[in-house]
Amino acid sequence: MNGAGHAKRESAFPRRGGHWQPLLPALDAGAITRAGAWLLGITGRKGDRIYRVRLLVQAGFALGCVALGIQFARFTRAAAVGDLPLPARPPGVEAFLPISGLMGLLDWIYQGTLNRVHPAATMLFVIVVAMALVARKSFCSWICPVGLLSESLARAGRRLFGRNFRPWKWIDVPLRGLKYLLLFFFLQAIFSMSDAALQSFIQSPYNRVADVKMGLFFVRLGPVGMWVLGILAVLSILVAGAWCRYLCPYGALLGIVSMFSPVKVHRNADACVDCGLCDKVCMARLPVASRARISSAECTGCLDCIATCPVDDALELKAARRWRLGIPAYALLILLLFLGGYSGARLGGLWQSGISDSEYSQRIRQIDRPEYGHPGS
Ligand code: SF4
Ligand code: SF4
Repeated sequence: MNGAGHAKRESAFPRRGGHWQPLLPALDAGAITRAGAWLLGITGRKGDRIYRVRLLVQAGFALGCVALGIQFARFTRAAAVGDLPLPARPPGVEAFLPISGLMGLLDWIYQGTLNRVHPAATMLFVIVVAMALVARKSFCSWICPVGLLSESLARAGRRLFGRNFRPWKWIDVPLRGLKYLLLFFFLQAIFSMSDAALQSFIQSPYNRVADVKMGLFFVRLGPVGMWVLGILAVLSILVAGAWCRYLCPYGALLGIVSMFSPVKVHRNADACVDCGLCDKVCMARLPVASRARISSAECTGCLDCIATCPVDDALELKAARRWRLGIPAYALLILLLFLGGYSGARLGGLWQSGISDSEYSQRIRQIDRPEYGHPGS
């Protein structure tokens, strides 16, 4: 009996050199600690550490978005057939309603209380803007799933053509202005609304199910939508970060706010060997190699310049020009700001929508009626 048991244990965990050996380090506490330190960017080569930590954070949030999408699809499907009670609706989908979020914020300021239509949209808007104020446009390069997609397409472009194309300055500069124009258009439209007009929009049938409308836009993508997305994808393969660089008004707003952030990339001219590698990898095409520090609204805090720099300490991320921020500390700061804000909103009761399941169910079944069109159209 003992012998049989022993034989069984041996077959599960054979001696060193057996084909189970690759699994053994996973059982070792020291190896787990080392793997954790590697994953968190505490050990390994400087460049790899930065890419690895950022990719880990980006992938985590992208997976979170996929989970939100699946849960929201279950909710919408059940609501469409009138199945009550509905599966839980994930309020996080309101991250895709930044305009509704800004309107909710303005209404909060006017009324003194946060309306319950899309409170998560407002809270996420506040959290992301606060992140830009503290830790630059880090939302774009560390959290936003569109940012990850954009970077992946640019990488595919480099594989295909050996490089990404950089439009001439005379075309690049006016194109970059487009996102600020779009931002101005949205801000002007929202800030020129009277209190009553704002209320009327927030409570409109369109806005009450704006999350479902947004989902349906992608589900029912017509030929025009497909062409637009296809062109954007091809552009992003050819020109790194085309959407973020030229068209995203949210990124434009975060960029302007981030100019007040105390966190910046600093270059130590004494250590710098003028290799120009930082200029080459910067997706925002900033002249890192010739500046003492990067204050531009276009800097996303991606740290690719620091990752690529061959000289230790030639480029550093610093807060208030004084305190050096290591990679794990910066990643932790970003996570703390985002997840701390999210937890605070949940605990403070500023997260769940006040729209009942029965209202959602009724409205989703009527969503193609004319009264659910955009109030401004
Ligand atoms: S300057 Fe550095 S941190 Fe800023 S966008 Fe360029 S590569 Fe990223
Ligand atoms: S990569 Fe580093 S050493 Fe090279 S130019 Fe930039 S800061 Fe200087």
